[in-house]
Amino acid sequence: MTIHTIDLEFQGVLKVIAAFMIPHRDGVVLIESGPQTCWEALKRGLTKHGYAPCDVTDVLLTHVHFDHAGAAWSLAKAGANIHVHPKGIRHLADPSRLWNSAARIYGDAGMTMLWGAMEPIAEAKLHVAEEGQQLSIGGLNFVAHHSPGHAKHHIAWQCGYALFTGDVGGVCINGGPMEPPCPPPDIDAFAWYNSIEKLSGLNEVKRLFLTHFGEQQGDISEHWKVLRNRLDAWIAFIESNADLDTSTLIDVFTDYVSEERTKYEGAEGCYAFANPAEMSVAGIRRWLSKRDELAAT
Ligand SMILES: [Zn+2]
Repeated sequence: MTIHTIDLEFQGVLKVIAAFMIPHRDGVVLIESGPQTCWEALKRGLTKHGYAPCDVTDVLLTHVHFDHAGAAWSLAKAGANIHVHPKGIRHLADPSRLWNSAARIYGDAGMTMLWGAMEPIAEAKLHVAEEGQQLSIGGLNFVAHHSPGHAKHHIAWQCGYALFTGDVGGVCINGGPMEPPCPPPDIDAFAWYNSIEKLSGLNEVKRLFLTHFGEQQGDISEHWKVLRNRLDAWIAFIESNADLDTSTLIDVFTDYVSEERTKYEGAEGCYAFANPAEMSVAGIRRWLSKRDELAAT
């Protein structure tokens, strides 16, 4: 098995969003489609290895956030089957709800600039991936590991020794700091801890592939440990500043994450696109307000 990392050059910046391409007997599999604004970069990545969108037989989505799944409809139009968590499927069949809720944050112009159009996918092209489901594609075998925490509709996809962690495995760019992406509305630290425990226990896994960004070097169990610690630290930071108003909290949290990011040459710009600090303030705040309720169940 050969895994190619395609840099989707999001907003013209390298190492922000990846898609992973694996050739097989009958074409290629993609893990993630990236957003529609990266469609040309995705095509260039395929072309570089001698493929076109019509060669993509299957797209395995980790979750239905725009930066991971926004262009899935274009690949479905070119013929690909789209595999997604049961909780994500209706958003791909009818993306209007997804669009409208994100547009409340970004505005319609911001949505078009960042993510591009998202059109409905025909039901015949959409396939639910249940927990533990195995997919056999052109001689490759994939397993779907449901892994909530970052999003309710999250799957980490395993193919032999490789685990494609979407966002549940954190953001780590160019050996820079490990960060847990915490946008609203689904952040659930309890679920995330469970997912970390589950995924770190997959003994067959030897390599981790992060959508933001790429294959990780170094010890896998250490990766999960650092991620868990950082998630705890971020929540503790937001909690200890809970009495600040939102814009002040965003400022102090941005300073807090920048302090780590600026230690690494060139990291800050990539991280600002891959994991905007203000999103994590909103996501963690929302979760803290639900936490006590969740702890009781
Ligand atoms: Zn996400």
